[in-house]
Amino acid sequence: MAILNADLHCHSTVSDGTLEPEALAARAHANGVQLWALTDHDELGGQQRALHAARALGLPYLTGVEISVTFAGLTVHIVGLGIDPDDAQLGDGLARTRSGREQRAREMAEQLAAVGIPGAFEGALKYVGNPELISRTHFARFLVEAGICHDTHDVFRRFLTEGKPGFVAHRWAALGDAVRWIREAGGVAVIAHPARYAHPSPTHEYALFAEFKAHGGQAVEVVSGSHSAAEALRYADLALEFGLAASRGSDFHSPDESHTDLGALPLLEGRLTPVWELLADRIIH
Ligand code: AMP
Ligand code: MN
Ligand code: MN
Ligand code: MN
Repeated sequence: MAILNADLHCHSTVSDGTLEPEALAARAHANGVQLWALTDHDELGGQQRALHAARALGLPYLTGVEISVTFAGLTVHIVGLGIDPDDAQLGDGLARTRSGREQRAREMAEQLAAVGIPGAFEGALKYVGNPELISRTHFARFLVEAGICHDTHDVFRRFLTEGKPGFVAHRWAALGDAVRWIREAGGVAVIAHPARYAHPSPTHEYALFAEFKAHGGQAVEVVSGSHSAAEALRYADLALEFGLAASRGSDFHSPDESHTDLGALPLLEGRLTPVWELLADRIIH
């Protein structure tokens, strides 16, 4: 099972991706993915579509979500795999997590207007597929289209991140709540792309892993579209140190923006326990 080409992290138009769930399923299948999960931000609205499209293609599927969490002052993402998409507690928790996004977006637009970029709220909205899920990615697309930035990388270097115009601090779900919603919905919680977080100290990262584990978290993304080979090695070591299973996901958002395509990732190392071994009974064929 360890050698599966699994891709357990990507986004559709239901959050901040540019492809519909059906198009993602087709792309994953065409790219040779053997086990797939759609993990939209704070939203389960694409799960039925993804599941049906995958089943029609004969592509084994795990339900998924990526929950925005605030941990000790830092935004961290927790992926949930194998969750029941109809679970009421998870659904309510995600609805609350989404609820501040519109007000946040209006404040982001005000900041951009103050540095001479008017109309960003309306501009971002043109890219939004789900009105409850306006995200920084949609603002990034607007800034590129308006000719203000070359690409999304340029956007996040100059705007929308801490200390830059268009950044609005936001309080997301608590780590313990997100892990509990996932577990009680029958799923496995996974720390997403751990190399992406700007931990203020090594102790802060250690605390994230320790508290995640104490709350019942069971896995970490070791192989990710946003990890270098050295980072994959480092998080393979940490997975073993903390007794966590390992996940693998491209975090694919768009053919035009994402540098890692669905399924185009190094395989998990044989010394790791693949997260799908914990989820054998949750795989939908
Ligand atoms: P939000 O949930 O509104 O804070 O938006 C977060 C999303 O913005 C992430 O899921 C990525 O899709 C995108 N994003 C954040 N930081 C970066 C970055 N440095 N480069 C590219 N995309 C980013
Ligand atoms: Mn995203
Ligand atoms: Mn993420
Ligand atoms: Mn993601």
